[in-house]
Amino acid sequence: MTLLEQIEKDMIYDKCERVFLFLPDGNKILFSKKTSEGKHEIRFSKGERKLCKGNVLTHSHTESGFGTFTPDDIKLFFSCKLKEIRMVKGNKVLSLVHKNCCNSKHSLILNEIALWDQEHDVSEDGMNEFLRGFSCLTSTKSVVIK
Ligand SMILES: [Zn+2]
Repeated sequence: MTLLEQIEKDMIYDKCERVFLFLPDGNKILFSKKTSEGKHEIRFSKGERKLCKGNVLTHSHTESGFGTFTPDDIKLFFSCKLKEIRMVKGNKVLSLVHKNCCNSKHSLILNEIALWDQEHDVSEDGMNEFLRGFSCLTSTKSVVIK
């Protein structure tokens, strides 16, 4: 089991959102942070955003939180050029990976996300459908064994 998998197992019970940035091997943490109580948004410094490039970010959504990636998660994923973004809510883990086939389209997808975010009431189903609309994205769902 990698350190990432161990931490995700622990995140099942998170009462505030936590974020961990890992090297792609899942065994070295580059930084971690958590939200202050009652807040849902985690802000990244310029330096932290830079570190994201090519690495794997996992984070938790609390029990009352969104059940899939939020528009902000997706924006972070593309704007920081993460290799993979993962989300833990309860014992479910979602993963989103951008295939290397179309790196040049990062900005296109970001624009679409921004537009879509403005025009829609974001629902979990709506977001999942939106993500399925991009053939260059792979999203998977798995369950953490407690
Ligand atoms: Zn999130």
